[in-house]
Amino acid sequence: MQMIGVLGGMSWESSLDWYRLANEKVRQELGGFHSAPVLLDSLDFAEIEALQASGDWEAAGAVLAAHAKGLEAAGVGLVVLCTNTMHLVADRITDAIRVPFLHIADTTAEAISAADLRTVGLLGTAFTMEQAFYRERLALHGITAVIPDAEDRATVHSIIYDELVLGIVTEESRQRYRDVIANLVAAGAEGIILGCTEIELLITQQDAPVPVFPTTALHVAAALKAAGL
Ligand code: GLU
Repeated sequence: MQMIGVLGGMSWESSLDWYRLANEKVRQELGGFHSAPVLLDSLDFAEIEALQASGDWEAAGAVLAAHAKGLEAAGVGLVVLCTNTMHLVADRITDAIRVPFLHIADTTAEAISAADLRTVGLLGTAFTMEQAFYRERLALHGITAVIPDAEDRATVHSIIYDELVLGIVTEESRQRYRDVIANLVAAGAEGIILGCTEIELLITQQDAPVPVFPTTALHVAAALKAAGL
């Protein structure tokens, strides 16, 4: 297998999950003592979050591009970015490297298409839900994403930043997400994208009446396949 370059730490709670899932899948597929060839570059999320909050996507893109180049120079065969939100600057990364970059919205869209669904609800940070970059990328695959109303978006966003990225998982927040999911299903969603890499720490298939698409797990599976598993 090729070495997978992972841009992580955004937050490390989800990168930990990425790393565990990758190693579990390799062990399951190859058995014995096999584990995933991974080079993890784990950034300080405080620096990235400050750039998000100030809307300085130019600087954030430059930081991620520089880290991606570092992974490439270290010899990885592909690069993945373990956060949906920061795919807002995916172009800065792909412009900076020659090895393949596996876009998280593409791997998610492929799973949705494989399930034969076309209209899905999108949960994520306010950046992911409200800005066009993620929904436009899904649209390239023929998928329409519906987003929660303003009140529900605020709920989803604040639970991510106030709790999930800090490793706080509560039953109360799980119930609030279930309610948001129910509203999306009532609005026509045939599936739900867990479009923030921490959401699958809170929500599983059991919490939704329609198929859920966990972006971390789907990204792991696609990265391992691309790396030659
Ligand atoms: N990991 C999250 C995501 O997938 C949110 C944290 C971040 O803004 O990077 O969007």
